[in-house]
Amino acid sequence: MASEPHDTPAQSSEPSPRPDRSDAENAVRTLIRWAGDDPTREGLLDTPARVVRAYEEFFAGYLEDPVQTLSRTFSEVDGYDEMIVMTDIRFESHCEHHMVPIIGKAHVAYLPDRRVVGISKLARLVDIYAKRLQIQERMTVQIADTLNDVLQPKGVAVVIEGAHQCMTTRGVHKPGAAMVTSRMLGVFRSDGSTRREFLAMIGRTGAGPLSNT
Ligand SMILES: [Zn+2]
Repeated sequence: MASEPHDTPAQSSEPSPRPDRSDAENAVRTLIRWAGDDPTREGLLDTPARVVRAYEEFFAGYLEDPVQTLSRTFSEVDGYDEMIVMTDIRFESHCEHHMVPIIGKAHVAYLPDRRVVGISKLARLVDIYAKRLQIQERMTVQIADTLNDVLQPKGVAVVIEGAHQCMTTRGVHKPGAAMVTSRMLGVFRSDGSTRREFLAMIGRTGAGPLSNT
């Protein structure tokens, strides 16, 4: 049937121009026919338009620049030297191999130096990267590195737990399996007690070793 999911076509040097909405809707009609159904039957008539609108939500992260979002909103604060942690930030992403959901939560922490950012911006940052075609490892790195670059804190920690529907609903069919990725920068990498304090806050004390991306 379809080719292997990990086959990637040769990259052309210039990306083709963005297709318009009717191109995208026609592509959905093609997939409906490929699945074995008839896109002209009544129940499916509006489906291509709905799918394209859903894609606008799923992939809204391409329209936002995470660096700008953070840069616009940080404030300079001297003297606050405690860890800032936001736990259990739910996200919905899509795996770039199968375009099916990755649902999970992110835990994000940093130890500020001078710059701090409103905590809702941490959730925003997670969303901007989640609402793209992703692999969890890269998303973890992107969130941590962007925070590190913009706020220049003493350290950043990101742990992401994700359930991949490409594993739970197809392929090996392993519901309940979660993938955990992490990235520790600065003091979270160099100082074991800071790292342990963070892991305790997110309920991962005594958990097995995390893969450090
Ligand atoms: Zn996948």
